[in-house]
Amino acid sequence: MIEAVIGLEVHIELGTKTKMFCRCENRFGAPPNTLTCPVCLGLPGALPRPNQDAVERVVRLALALGAELAPVLEFDRKHYFYPDLPKGYQISQSRTILATGGSVPVGDRSIGLHHLHLEEDAGKLAHLGGRASVDLNRAGVPLVEIVSLPEMHSGAEARAFMEEIRLWAEHLGLAEVRMEQGVLRADLNVSVRRAGDETLHPRTEVKNMNSFRALERAVTYEVDRQSRAIQAGEPLLQETRGWDDQAGRTYLQRRKETADDYRYMPEPDLPSYPLNEAWVVEIAAHLPPGPAALRKKLAELGLTPEALSVVMESRARSQLLLEAAELGADPVAAAQWIVGDLARVERESGMSLAERTYPASDLVELIRRVDQGTLAGPGAKRALELSYRDRRTLSAVVDEEGLAALSDQRELDRLIDQVLAANPVAVQDLLAGQEKALGFLLGQLMRQARNVDPKSAAGRIRERAKACSAGS
Ligand code: ZN
Ligand code: MN
Repeated sequence: MIEAVIGLEVHIELGTKTKMFCRCENRFGAPPNTLTCPVCLGLPGALPRPNQDAVERVVRLALALGAELAPVLEFDRKHYFYPDLPKGYQISQSRTILATGGSVPVGDRSIGLHHLHLEEDAGKLAHLGGRASVDLNRAGVPLVEIVSLPEMHSGAEARAFMEEIRLWAEHLGLAEVRMEQGVLRADLNVSVRRAGDETLHPRTEVKNMNSFRALERAVTYEVDRQSRAIQAGEPLLQETRGWDDQAGRTYLQRRKETADDYRYMPEPDLPSYPLNEAWVVEIAAHLPPGPAALRKKLAELGLTPEALSVVMESRARSQLLLEAAELGADPVAAAQWIVGDLARVERESGMSLAERTYPASDLVELIRRVDQGTLAGPGAKRALELSYRDRRTLSAVVDEEGLAALSDQRELDRLIDQVLAANPVAVQDLLAGQEKALGFLLGQLMRQARNVDPKSAAGRIRERAKACSAGS
């Protein structure tokens, strides 16, 4: 039997307004090199100043995960040369790490942490048409690095750990963790041994995994590759490997004979200073609920496991749901809107709920009107969409766009009669008991009047069809 031993180093970009050591805006998607200054460009003589909000976010995470905080905040220079690192070093932590220990509950296990530290991100290289160019908007963005103990044993377990870390970061307000923007990246270490052996074979590292699926596949691939090598009696070497997602395999990038020498030295431009105890106590007293507590709360409100996991994906979604429920809305109805149409509008508008901060009162109003039947079907969806996109209140949108459900019975009957008269074959089919015909007629009706409540209209179509056959 061969056993795999897996550890992860997870980097999360903190969603602070400004960068770690300068006041440049911390924002994804701006034109290249527009969010830079002498500090993050590494120009001589520029002096860094730490971002207190970034420190606070990491302290929050450390406290929530039960890690032990260092008494002082201290930074070191980690030297390496890379074109996206203009200073020639990264400001990180090595002598005094911000927090050590702690653990992350994953399912019925608890994965231990080695430490958490604070550092800055590098820029980004883009390879375009045979040329490499560099964008330094990301240089100096605050990062928390979370280093697990090598306590995981499968790709599925590594994935579950990374997913859980993502939820902690979301719900403790460290960042809006948008995977597609590379906010969360993991380096993985994999080694194997025969069960019962003390010593591990040399490990491989795979860097910069930014999707859960890729991480799981890469771990599984590596465990398999290394196990086969051992069984075949082939030597394993310490290597850094890349992941080819298309081919579904890792490939050799470089062999390591010795540990990298980063020539760490104390950062002379940032004096160390003690963490204020009263401030830490204050943060500890106001920790938001972590994923486990939130999961329990949402389940108690009656959410299905599927709805629960979509709501939990974002802090903004779960807060909206809890606020709507507090204002008296049915939580299950609220979850249906959030998971369905609201998630769609988030996607289509490119504006996440965290950016939009949609007021719970509007969601409550939507649910109330649908309950009463004054807003229905496509009209209700349209009202949500427009109020979200245009930052208008739901009632304003309904009034101004004339989206209220058709409540005039005579007007509804007139429209239905028109549709029935225009589709005599379908009417005959319906009377002969073919239910498909009802869907067709309803579709025709909705094309005429988008604000019809489909539930009540369906019944009315049936009645009118019977009436007109009786009358003819
Ligand atoms: Zn800057
Ligand atoms: Mn790092």
